[in-house]
Amino acid sequence: MLSLERRAPAFARAYSIALISLHADPATVVGSPQNGGVTIYVRELARALAQFGHRVDVFTRRTDPQAPASERRDGYTLHRIAAGPPAHLGNDEIAAHLDEALAALDEAFDRHAYDLISSHYWLSGTLGDALARRRGIAHVHTLHSHGTARKRRDAITLERIEIERKLLQTTPIVTLSPSHRELFARDYGLVPPRLAVVPAGVDLARFRPGDVAETRRALGVPERGRYVGYVGRLTREKGIDELISAFALLRANGTEAGLLVVGGAQRGSRVPELRALAARFGVAEHVHFLGAIPNARVADAFRAADVVAVPSHYEAFGLVALEARACGVPVVASDVGGLRDLVTPASGGARVAPGDLAGWARELGAALEPGELQRRRARVLHEGVGPYSWTSIASRIVAFGLHDVCAD
Ligand code: UDP
Repeated sequence: MLSLERRAPAFARAYSIALISLHADPATVVGSPQNGGVTIYVRELARALAQFGHRVDVFTRRTDPQAPASERRDGYTLHRIAAGPPAHLGNDEIAAHLDEALAALDEAFDRHAYDLISSHYWLSGTLGDALARRRGIAHVHTLHSHGTARKRRDAITLERIEIERKLLQTTPIVTLSPSHRELFARDYGLVPPRLAVVPAGVDLARFRPGDVAETRRALGVPERGRYVGYVGRLTREKGIDELISAFALLRANGTEAGLLVVGGAQRGSRVPELRALAARFGVAEHVHFLGAIPNARVADAFRAADVVAVPSHYEAFGLVALEARACGVPVVASDVGGLRDLVTPASGGARVAPGDLAGWARELGAALEPGELQRRRARVLHEGVGPYSWTSIASRIVAFGLHDVCAD
């Protein structure tokens, strides 16, 4: 279990905080392959910090020539800086434009004196490091994922790993789950000297239990029946292919259920391919592809499900599992990374090895048993998600970044 009982420290004064999130613009609609947890994390962190009265400036890369260079949102200011062409680029491609990004950030930092830099993902981590050194500003880096998790070891991945290794040694690091302590030792051969485990949060006002029938109606799926829910990007690493196979096995085992799949991309969607996979297994009519749903409304997708599956090959945290729990829905998840801390029998959950299709079919079937469904739901609600409020998380990050006070 994470030790989450620490109270939010009170702040001596309002600080000026620069959030650097070069690759993830917090204003983007989430659900496509490029936008996921980091986008939500940065958006919610900025909002929560602003609620404390801090001045919050978020810096991201300009991807759309029409988008405003600066805009006010939810109490913070979002700045879109030039770094490469104003078009969508893959994260690895952005690495070629870090010098330009640094020059733009330098100009912004000339105009305003910040107390703290909070950077997200290695691209922003290296920028934060450069600015912090040049200007003597405190810097805290959140590691949302790790270069070592990649199978391929191309030049950019090796560069990323080296930058992460440096950050781990020199910068206060926020990691999202306790399982990463071992990962740092194993993959990077070091114990970060300044490390705090601070989980991601969930918006408790939006993600809460609700009426199942009503949300199913709103989503246009049949009200009756039992459903497994999937919410996330439709990439292979998220395990959606295996989930469809396991779902077919679940039905072959005699469990009457449907599968709700939420997520998808505007370009290069994998939906046709996944639909074909479902058809090959003879379950196409039971798999409902609902497309990407904006984060503001995605709680409905969780509420419509009886059990949420998180079949990822790896998760540093596993935001979707937390969101499902906040909606009172039991989770079956892969036995990896941060999901080990979030999905436990005490919180109504079960974990299975990612590729164990028979295990997945068995666990989903067990979770969907009528009596078991009620028991697990009761456990989810009893365990609660109160400690994961964004205000508590935001305050811990700032306190750690400024004073290293909550290092575990
Ligand atoms: N999400 C969403 N709409 C969708 C699909 C996903 O709002 O159609 C959200 C989901 O609720 C979660 C985030 O996208 O907040 C995915 O975060 P996670 O950390 O699970 O995955 P990532 O994409 O960052 O690897």
